[in-house]
Amino acid sequence: MQHITNQSLLSFMVPNEQQGIAVNNPATGDVLGFAPVSVEQDILGSIERASVAQKEWAALPSKSRSAVLLSWYQLILDNKEDLGRLMTLEQGKPLAEAQGEVLYGASFIQWFAEEAKRTYGETIPTPSGDKRLLTIKQPVGVACAITPWNFPIAMITRKAGPALAAGCSFIVKPSESTPLSAFAVAELAYQAGIPRDVLQVVLGSDARQVGRIFTSHPLIRKLSFTGSTQVGRVLMQQSANDIKRTSMELGGNAPFIVFDDADIDAAVVGAMASKFRNAGQTCVCANRFYVHSKVYDEFVSKFSAAVQQLKVGNGLDEGVSIGPVISAAAKQNIQSLIDGAIAQGAQPMSELRTLDGLFMQPVVLKNVTHDMDIIANEIFGPVAPVIKFSDDQQLIEMANDTIYGLASYFYSQNIHRVWKIAEALEYGMVGINEGMISNEVAPFGGVKQSGIGREGAKQGIDEYMNIKYLCFGGN
Ligand code: NAP
Repeated sequence: MQHITNQSLLSFMVPNEQQGIAVNNPATGDVLGFAPVSVEQDILGSIERASVAQKEWAALPSKSRSAVLLSWYQLILDNKEDLGRLMTLEQGKPLAEAQGEVLYGASFIQWFAEEAKRTYGETIPTPSGDKRLLTIKQPVGVACAITPWNFPIAMITRKAGPALAAGCSFIVKPSESTPLSAFAVAELAYQAGIPRDVLQVVLGSDARQVGRIFTSHPLIRKLSFTGSTQVGRVLMQQSANDIKRTSMELGGNAPFIVFDDADIDAAVVGAMASKFRNAGQTCVCANRFYVHSKVYDEFVSKFSAAVQQLKVGNGLDEGVSIGPVISAAAKQNIQSLIDGAIAQGAQPMSELRTLDGLFMQPVVLKNVTHDMDIIANEIFGPVAPVIKFSDDQQLIEMANDTIYGLASYFYSQNIHRVWKIAEALEYGMVGINEGMISNEVAPFGGVKQSGIGREGAKQGIDEYMNIKYLCFGGN
């Protein structure tokens, strides 16, 4: 691949389709290369090796695990350009965004390298004079993960960082649409000194088969999944047999609310960042906009003007802000939501041009109503439907009227309203006068059918540790 300077990042690649799966560039349709595929026996072998290696890894002082993780962090930073290009090639997001994801992904390795040293237990005041009580935290054992294509590196490091810091070994199955970034970032982990059996990337020929192995193998003690609610539900059901520990980072349907006391220009900036990053393909993307009737026309026209400035194209090209969507099926799904909304009375604010390949013209839809299909579904594309509201109570009912509860956003300058609305929104995360909320230091996660567990922050490492209670008698 001529775009990659450090060819050692690609040492995992196999020469042809007989030995691996073809990975395509969504911007051009070209085959980029072939990623190695594991058959069932290989995956079973990986799990057994991970189990043996975990004991040695956990026995290292946390300071040593921390040091190796920091070396990995540094190598990711050193290879930011190449990792970013590789990500753009296989995922489609613009280069600046891809490099931003590399840094965001690396931040979890740095953060959890530090947290490795702080997995404190506690002493508990005793209820009886002859006992002394305390807790320690221990790694769960072999942890595994299944991750999506929309953040090919960050969704892995957000799990691998805490797992390895805690003393677990870690096996990840990336999406078959974007495995190259996953294998490349793991290559850097090995160069940093993380043993090959402690961190493994496996790509089965069938995601369902890998899911079944991960959820049923007795040596796997933890599954962390990021992806759709539909697949998360299946994996939780499969995990129930063995009462396996799971974390679920699932779908969202984020409301973005603009009150009549909002700074409208700031709301437009927040809306652009929240809606159009990654061509609208993030779980925290604003999915539906609710704008107060007094500022509706102003917001819609400023928002649409900003959207018309977005340049669609190959993410490697200068100035491009919207790359292709991930697949033909995704494009068709987004298009049918747009067509359905228009048939039900929504009005596009700009000409709806049909673009070639996997590209889509970003658009704002006005005169949308809360009962349209486009509001009930996760759009995962560059389309912004805007609804008019005039009553705060009704607004809250509409905003919470979904099975999802991941991210939400609102703009208001009234401090009383800010508290009231922030508390009333049934979401794991609330952006207040802010459209970009994710970072490594804050707990990321959802409520309702958006998931269970938190990633990042001081809470993230607990997902990979058991609390053990020690009771000392006869004192
Ligand atoms: P997806 O279809 O659920 O796929 C996610 C991962 O699961 C991929 O690795 C996929 O493999 C694998 N998979 C699919 N079916 C499976 C099965 N039956 N058993 C085991 N694994 C299976 O989701 P997606 O379309 O790739 O990603 C978009 C979704 O992820 C959206 O709903 C988005 O909101 C959500 N997401 C959530 C977060 C969060 O933190 N909450 C972050 C990012 C994305 P293949 O791709 O190889 O088929």
